[in-house]
Amino acid sequence: MTEVKKFILDNRLGKVFEDKTFRDYTTIKVGGRIRLVYMPNSIDNFLRFYEYFRTREFPLFIIGFGSNVLASDRDFPGVVVSFRDLDVLYFRIGNRVKAYPGCPVVRLAYDLARAGYGVGEFLAGIPATVGGAVYMNAGANGGEIKDILVRARLLGSAGVKTYENAELDFSYRKSRLQSEGLICLEADFEFEPEAEPGSALKRIAELKKNRRKTQPIEKLCAGCTFHNPPGMYAWQLIDRIGFRGYQVNKAQVSPKHANFLINNGGATSDDMMKLIGLIKEKVKERFDVDLECEWVLVNF
Ligand SMILES: Cc1cc2nc3c(=O)[nH]c(=O)nc-3n(C[C@H](O)[C@H](O)[C@H](O)COP(=O)(O)OP(=O)(O)OC[C@H]3O[C@@H](n4cnc5c(N)ncnc54)[C@H](O)[C@@H]3O)c2cc1C
Repeated sequence: MTEVKKFILDNRLGKVFEDKTFRDYTTIKVGGRIRLVYMPNSIDNFLRFYEYFRTREFPLFIIGFGSNVLASDRDFPGVVVSFRDLDVLYFRIGNRVKAYPGCPVVRLAYDLARAGYGVGEFLAGIPATVGGAVYMNAGANGGEIKDILVRARLLGSAGVKTYENAELDFSYRKSRLQSEGLICLEADFEFEPEAEPGSALKRIAELKKNRRKTQPIEKLCAGCTFHNPPGMYAWQLIDRIGFRGYQVNKAQVSPKHANFLINNGGATSDDMMKLIGLIKEKVKERFDVDLECEWVLVNF
């Protein structure tokens, strides 16, 4: 790994850190140490790094804001790449945006709303980067990334390729990026003029108010823990097995929203996984439903 670090620094490809943990890079603040964190300063330099790194034995993981990630308590033996230090977030011409993977989607929602464009209001409450949001097909309040994404430039085993929206196999919190391990380098979005002046900002304010009321956003968490099974709500199933507020050490089912598991300070990944296992077991027993974890589990 010393030579990987040397390659990055000698070629001025960005920053590297050797003293970080997944607690530093995830919103739930759980997880073990990371051998090397690399923060590219440009997409071109990331591609130079990738060309050099891809033949090595070490694992690679791309992290956004870590708002949907649970990492194990074990040390991660590879490189975690964060695009949060890129030299540019996005460019905009009218209602069209070209965004880079480290750009916060909240920023897009607000900037576009201030410029008089709508349909992106749902993004304002999602603590995601563009890369993580495209990968997860993030969505809320009736909107999803797939509704505003035109195309994306992705890196896969065959190199860099531009995919149109229809080629990305989007469905509920799923995308082709997941099934093929593609890395998002750039995403083009199209917004629409808002219905009347100020309506996009007004809608953002309403959605955020509602979110504060219904979700434990003030707690350490990673969003909804389970996918909603077809025609059902995961939170209702968890509620009905009596698990609202249930704790395993410092890991707890949020008393505010039963599909949010929270870290009350000092929870381990092991605590989280025990709680997830118990919920799945009880829901299966009671309703014969297999809950599927929405979180991305890393290094287990
Ligand atoms: C308080 C709270 C509220 C939330 N509300 C919502 C909500 O309303 N709707 C919703 O959909 N989600 C919600 N989430 C979950 C989360 O914000 C989304 O899943 C989001 O898309 C994750 O984005 P991220 O940038 O943090 O990605 P991360 O969590 O860091 O990563 C998620 C996955 O994306 C991959 N990834 C990240 N960047 C790239 C890239 N450039 N290329 C390829 N893969 C990449 C990672 O490898 C990982 O597999 C919420 C989370 C929290 C904490």
